[in-house]
Amino acid sequence: MQTPVPHIVEVAIPLPLEGSFHYLVPERLSPQAAAGKRVLVPFGRRKVTGYLLGDADVPGAGELKEVLDILDEEPLFTASELEFFRWIAGYYLHPLGEVIKMALPAGINLVSRYRCEQGEDGTPVLMEFLAGGRKVRTERYFIPIPDAERRPRGKGLEILEYLMEMGECAAAELRTRFGNCTPQLNRLVQLGAARVEAREVYRDPFRSQQYQHDGPLPLNPAQAQALERLSAAVEGGTFAPFLLHGVTGSGKTEVYLQTIAVALAAGRSALVMVPEIALTPQLVGRFKRRFDCGIAVLHSGLSDGERYDEWRRIRRGEASIVIGARSALFAPLTQVGVIVVDEEHEGSYKQSEGVRYNARDLALVRGKLSGAVVILGSATPLVTSYHAAMNGRLGYLQLPDRVRELPMPQTEMLDARRQKGEVFLPQLIEAMGENLDNGGQTLLFLNRRGFATYLVCESCGHVLRCPNCEVTLTFHRLKGKHVCHYCDFSMLPPKNCPHCGDGEITLLGRGTERVEEQVQQLFPHARVSRMDRDTTRGKGGHARVLKELEDGEVDILIGTQMIAKGHDFPGVTLVGVLSADASLNLPDFRSAERTFQLVTQVMGRAGRGDKPGRVLVQTLAPEHYALTRAVTHDFEGFYREEIAFREEVGYPPFAHLASLTLSAVAASQGEHSADEAAALLQKIKRECRLRVEVLGPVTAPLGKVRGRFRWQILLKGRERADLHRLLFHFRGGFSHPSTVRLTIDVDPVDM
Ligand code: ADP
Ligand code: ZN
Repeated sequence: MQTPVPHIVEVAIPLPLEGSFHYLVPERLSPQAAAGKRVLVPFGRRKVTGYLLGDADVPGAGELKEVLDILDEEPLFTASELEFFRWIAGYYLHPLGEVIKMALPAGINLVSRYRCEQGEDGTPVLMEFLAGGRKVRTERYFIPIPDAERRPRGKGLEILEYLMEMGECAAAELRTRFGNCTPQLNRLVQLGAARVEAREVYRDPFRSQQYQHDGPLPLNPAQAQALERLSAAVEGGTFAPFLLHGVTGSGKTEVYLQTIAVALAAGRSALVMVPEIALTPQLVGRFKRRFDCGIAVLHSGLSDGERYDEWRRIRRGEASIVIGARSALFAPLTQVGVIVVDEEHEGSYKQSEGVRYNARDLALVRGKLSGAVVILGSATPLVTSYHAAMNGRLGYLQLPDRVRELPMPQTEMLDARRQKGEVFLPQLIEAMGENLDNGGQTLLFLNRRGFATYLVCESCGHVLRCPNCEVTLTFHRLKGKHVCHYCDFSMLPPKNCPHCGDGEITLLGRGTERVEEQVQQLFPHARVSRMDRDTTRGKGGHARVLKELEDGEVDILIGTQMIAKGHDFPGVTLVGVLSADASLNLPDFRSAERTFQLVTQVMGRAGRGDKPGRVLVQTLAPEHYALTRAVTHDFEGFYREEIAFREEVGYPPFAHLASLTLSAVAASQGEHSADEAAALLQKIKRECRLRVEVLGPVTAPLGKVRGRFRWQILLKGRERADLHRLLFHFRGGFSHPSTVRLTIDVDPVDM
């Protein structure tokens, strides 16, 4: 007799471990063992859930442990999705199992078993998902069997008659109508007078809305030209990346819609990513009005259950368009023909925990793997994107004008130097008072991040920068020094400003609360509201504040960058920017770019209605190019200055970055590991002759976070390949105590 060939499979495990593992599939499970399913496997002394990647051909089956169970009826991911996951794992140097876990909806992990119960006669009666013991995914429907021989009496008969009348009915509805009727329902089934069917219940967050259908708008020449190139690319059916550069209101969304129509006609699907949860309802409405096909919405504001429902609809092919935030990138769409990344410059496309992927970058990878057209849209593209477009690596499409000829807001810069830390300059107070008298609404914009961490000369506005890295020095309280958090350069705070010689250096700090207080004092009768992370916590908090503004219940709204994003506030006629400096002086090489983007966006909030708007930018740096170029709507001018700076100091796109963070509860241990890590990096770099700068270790700007001391090492490579080789060898060769945590961030965004 022939011995059967052992069935060996490769399994990825969602733990911080490199590589995948091999297991033997026992004969009883063999027919069900398919790639893409979850499996229960022994791991060390534990049982863990892993992902079956496929069959493996390895010798030594005798030593392998056995798969204990197969947890899914259907695969959760396809071969081409696995290819994408592998790419991500390789690029971000993250374990494949954790990448897969992150890519699948969290709701899936609530579902411990998918079970099919047998009725008395052996036919399946009840299918349900058991999630933490609760039955949450299915609704039981009762369907009468018309020619049944046996009938119940009393309440049971009443129910049966009702069922006959209705054709079928959900258990929940029957309970509302007849009270607790479970025994009667069971009896109906037992008698063969009705059968029961379990149906999955979708929770559609937009279910209650009705949408009026509309058609495509006739395009203006710039839109038509963009659409022509995009639709030719879609019809070509191969990967083609584009930058769609156009100010807010220039008609980018209309171009997305019409490009997607071309893709749908060609039998392909579309993925649309937006940076903010709060923006999706408006956008979803536009898509629902335009298209009849299924549209799924995936964003982090949904509960796990809602997300999981949407995910399943997509997996079953019931949606051809997916709209969502960052994580929508992993929507299980097939035949993707178009991927849109709206507001491609937004930092929120980068995930800052776990797998530190950037959805904007990965949109290009997914597009390449599935032969799709990728549209990166923005009014203020990333400097790196614009550079790529100028060098032909992205197709460049421009929409230079607003569709409706709205006048651009009148913008003024207010010089806050020599004002000794006043919250508001007199000109701004005057403008606010005037606007209030005229019944206009005012937005006060300030960026809380980075407050009170840097020192600035109150007289000339000079901010101390690192002589090596050109980033702002951060004031480090523990050391009492100014520190560069890229290279660890440090200096004692000077008594007087080194630039103008006589100004006093003070710590800048103005929170939203303090601004609110001041506004109330200045304008006791104004209705003042505040929108930041504290006031909009919880589902709908954000929308509530916006609604108040829209309904004219607020005269002055104070907010962080949240209010800068693409909302339309027709009643807003004055915008005050109080903290352009805070973002300008973030210890980040992108601080100028961020500031340009923010100020441009904030300016776009003024005068969207019939009345012209006015913007006042109060700043200590009225000559900085990020501000002067923003207020004159001069993206190209900004780009030219910024790209020269990047090239001179060696930042993207002229270098590629990665940052390593080591943290430990015991400072000495963390420091020791960080030193060892840096030494190993230097050694690999020398031996492999890699052109990568290793900067640090430095103590992280916040020093101690959640009880752990943190060190950072910054890697800067001219060639991406060199940087990746260094990281790859480092990860393979670096060992550290289990009490030390290492995270690798490739292409870090907030640094
Ligand atoms: P963006 O996405 O660049 O902000 P939108 O596509 O939202 O621009 O367009 C701004 C406004 O102009 C919307 O109200 C839209 O319906 C309208 N619009 C867009 N394209 C046209 C067009 N070709 N003709 C008339 N109105 C248009
Ligand atoms: Zn430095």
